[in-house]
Amino acid sequence: MNEYDSNRIYDLASVIGFKKTNTKTEADCFVLNTCHIRKKATEKVYHEIGRVKKEFRNLKKPLVVISGCVAQAESEEIMKREPYIDMVIGPQSYHKIGDLILKHERKKGKINETEFDVVRKFDELEKIPNTQNKISSFLTIQEGCDKFCHFCVVPYTRGPEYSRPFDQIISEAQDLVKRGTKEIVLLGQNVNAYNYKNQYKLSSIIRVLNNIKNLKRIRYTTSHPRDMSEDLILCYKDCSKLMPFLHLPIQSGSNEILKLMNRKHDREYYISIIKKLKQINKDIKISSDFIVGYPGETEKYFKETIKIIQEIGFINSYSFIFSPRPGTPAAEKELSKTNINEKRLKEIQKVLDNYQYDSNKKYLNQNCEVLVENKLKKQTKYFGRTKYMTPVIFEADTCSVGELINVKITSFNRKNLFGIYKINKIKAA
Ligand code: SAM
Ligand code: SF4
Repeated sequence: MNEYDSNRIYDLASVIGFKKTNTKTEADCFVLNTCHIRKKATEKVYHEIGRVKKEFRNLKKPLVVISGCVAQAESEEIMKREPYIDMVIGPQSYHKIGDLILKHERKKGKINETEFDVVRKFDELEKIPNTQNKISSFLTIQEGCDKFCHFCVVPYTRGPEYSRPFDQIISEAQDLVKRGTKEIVLLGQNVNAYNYKNQYKLSSIIRVLNNIKNLKRIRYTTSHPRDMSEDLILCYKDCSKLMPFLHLPIQSGSNEILKLMNRKHDREYYISIIKKLKQINKDIKISSDFIVGYPGETEKYFKETIKIIQEIGFINSYSFIFSPRPGTPAAEKELSKTNINEKRLKEIQKVLDNYQYDSNKKYLNQNCEVLVENKLKKQTKYFGRTKYMTPVIFEADTCSVGELINVKITSFNRKNLFGIYKINKIKAA
């Protein structure tokens, strides 16, 4: 979502005459769009500002703007801790960036803008074209969260659940396709909680997008297990452009930990969703997020997480050590020992890596459908992705970016597939 927001911040700044520079030090204005999900992300802000300060030491100081969730959660602290920062703008007020920059040019002085103004944000954004012209483009349909998992800052930084008007989304999707997009990734912190006036759901958007002529692939992220409704599951049967790959975070395989996390689902419910999905489309593969070292996680509970990974066989998954976030209920709890958490992270990542490796191995010597995203710089090779998001790097005498092609896989590692394309087109979905 930050990538989507960063592109839109650029679109807004372009209206008042700003353009991207080729090098950092040419910039008059420097915007750092931030994430607050784990502590490491906040620390990155200060490191990055330190680098900018160094690079601009003998140059005119640029206007320094911190946007995103760190700005929302820690506006006062970051202004105090780092006087080099001129402006902080929260994720629900970035539509004002143009006016705020002009105001700063007139008056100087620090600016702190962290209102929750999400309705106006999307109304303002609607007036400015989304200039992404990538083969795979993001499209935010929903923001915020009402679920309040005990470890998570999102409900506090992005605010309550908000679903964008249905027509606004469809029109942005059509514009993206006109600009050359072949794959749309629908975004939301709880994307499958999308609900516009009790009339339109995520499945309604997918069904309309499935009929857009030049669009080839549809994805959505991130989903909550509780919102995997029957109508959404049915899309995996009816909508040929919806990729058979779902990122569905479970966080833990232990019911005790899921309860402590306030996740509102248990392992049995999660498994029942996966069963339904596989019944409707046997090709579906699942990826997930896992948190290890959550307060109260014993070795037994941790092993239950390993067990569910073995039961489901996730691919392309993410795992993190619990990071206490200020203001969340879990931040008050006693932390587990760092060395145990690190050991568990290594163990879980090893298991997940093995599934990823085995999943990639199955492609060896097979033809695999790839959406070509770009040609690699100074090489004859191209880059694309499989239906399951796995990166594919391949040799080709010729091929068109944006095409769906059949690549013969000749080697692989855990992260990537490598192959060769000889003219042997397959029909686009
Ligand atoms: N809405 C999604 C869901 O319900 O699963 C998750 C979105 S969250 C922005 C992305 C991921 O960050 C989560 O799935 C979780 O694994 C991880 N995460 C969130 N808060 C965390 C924390 N305090 N410590 C470690 N990981 C965290
Ligand atoms: Fe955070 Fe997702 Fe839980 Fe909402 S549902 S609080 S975004 S982890």
